[in-house]
Amino acid sequence: MTGSGTRVLVLGGTGEARTLAGLLVESGVGVVSSLAGRVARPRLPVGEVRVGGFGGIDGLASYLGENEVTAVVDATHPFAAVISGNAAAACAASGTPLLRLERPGWRDEPGAESWHWVGDNAEAARVTAELADQKPCPGEPEGLFRPVLTVGRQGLGAYVGPLADAHALVRVVDPPEIELPATWTVLEDRGPYELAGERALLERHRADVLVTKDSGGTWTRPKLSAAEALGIPVVVVRRPGAVAGVPVVRTPAEAASWVEQQR
Ligand code: NAP
Repeated sequence: MTGSGTRVLVLGGTGEARTLAGLLVESGVGVVSSLAGRVARPRLPVGEVRVGGFGGIDGLASYLGENEVTAVVDATHPFAAVISGNAAAACAASGTPLLRLERPGWRDEPGAESWHWVGDNAEAARVTAELADQKPCPGEPEGLFRPVLTVGRQGLGAYVGPLADAHALVRVVDPPEIELPATWTVLEDRGPYELAGERALLERHRADVLVTKDSGGTWTRPKLSAAEALGIPVVVVRRPGAVAGVPVVRTPAEAASWVEQQR
């Protein structure tokens, strides 16, 4: 890394992390972005990139020491709770300043009060299955239940049992690693998405319900507007709680200012 002796580790895997890496590289700050290595063809940030887990809290703490990291920005996805907890513990143990960069969620968006907010994927699956019992479904009056699941491939296991008889459409970036019911359809795709396309997708599938998690941001937001326009109920998984004691900013520009203050 180059610069004034500042070495920033950006825990990434999000658009915000890529934007932040770009801002830091532009200002000459030494930065390395870290990716978990889950996605087959990740969008890469500019600047130095490392890929793969650190080996838990101890592994991350060792990495910070060995690489003389002077500050960490945890810009991981709002649902990547393990790495956020690990970052807080490793930074506390090594005395490394830590900032959380997390985009705002959809809780305060217009219409959000009418969505079914649930605590996790298991509850989302239960609530979705209950909606299936409220026949006739708008999409399939004959009785087939047609949910659209946009919860990420890692969360899909929770839905397999409760929705085993449904004709679910599952949208994922990479193929699921678990066996899904034969009646389910997998669509591999990656945002950003637009309203017209999202509306067409829900109409084509004759969707009865849209299930998502509160990822926030604009890239995957249009599906919610499309569901609303079509009168399709929405189930949203709430975010895991924030890690106590870690300052939070909402935008890459704010995170870049914080890094500047650490120099
Ligand atoms: P997670 O459950 O919080 O983390 C699981 C383990 O993956 C961590 O303990 C760590 O392994 C490793 N890891 C996670 N993020 C890492 C990073 N940026 N750099 C190096 N190692 C990382 O994470 P997840 O939910 O599986 O998400 C994995 C990555 O995908 C994250 O970087 C996240 O930003 C991105 N992502 C997640 C979602 C989502 O919905 N969860 C959506 C879009 C993008 P060690 O313990 O070995 O260090």
